[in-house]
Amino acid sequence: MTQHIVQYSGGIGSWAAAMRVAEQHGVENLVLLVADCRAEDPDLWRYVAETSRYFGIEPVVVADGRDPWQVFRDVRFLGNSRLAPCSTHLKVNPCRRWVEANADPDDAILYVGFDHTEQRRIPGTRNGWAPWRVEFPMCDEPFLTKGEMLQWSRDIGIEPPRLYAWAEHNNCSGLCVRAGHRHWAKVLQNAPLLYAEAERKEEEIRAEFGKDVAILRERRAGASRPLTLAEHRRRLQRDSAASAPPQALREAG
Ligand code: SF4
Repeated sequence: MTQHIVQYSGGIGSWAAAMRVAEQHGVENLVLLVADCRAEDPDLWRYVAETSRYFGIEPVVVADGRDPWQVFRDVRFLGNSRLAPCSTHLKVNPCRRWVEANADPDDAILYVGFDHTEQRRIPGTRNGWAPWRVEFPMCDEPFLTKGEMLQWSRDIGIEPPRLYAWAEHNNCSGLCVRAGHRHWAKVLQNAPLLYAEAERKEEEIRAEFGKDVAILRERRAGASRPLTLAEHRRRLQRDSAASAPPQALREAG
């Protein structure tokens, strides 16, 4: 019997993909393959547990054992939007090892939860997983927006992961090194303690490497240079103080 293996990230896209796979093939040979990056929001595991119960199966959880920061230390490279070694070490490699040990390329299909706006990622993902076949159920019609997927989850009685209240993705507690300036501004606004933790860890790595490295970059006078989370925070706080109404007006209001 063909195995149907969903790369189950704890995000809404991979859940919706698993729903479509289950609707089409049943759950008998369904595998929910989750990579534990040791950095997830605890509510991601609540969602994985509740949705797995809904399917009536136990998820398969694989883990490298390190978190992204430990990977950066080990490979002597701080991940950023262009290169994120954490993804390779903590997600791709553990999942690949599990698939190689447990799935026959001639009798297994992998599924990834990209939606129709992410179709450009399909060729690279297919190449990366060869010789296994990979399908993308959420790239099939009817196309669903993220909001529609979140509502679908609510409709079956499962509250979506709480991170979606302010973040686009439910990964690494919102502290993804691939994210840009705007996302990190949202982290500062919605999860200031997590931002502070990431800022501290970035500073530790800069000190350890003895190099001017940062997760973010900025362009100044035509040149690209690292922008630390500390500096990004200071600018955001300065901008927000500058746009706040004067004290007298606040009190009057
Ligand atoms: S979600 Fe971001 S930080 Fe976490 S492992 Fe993937 S690329 Fe790295």
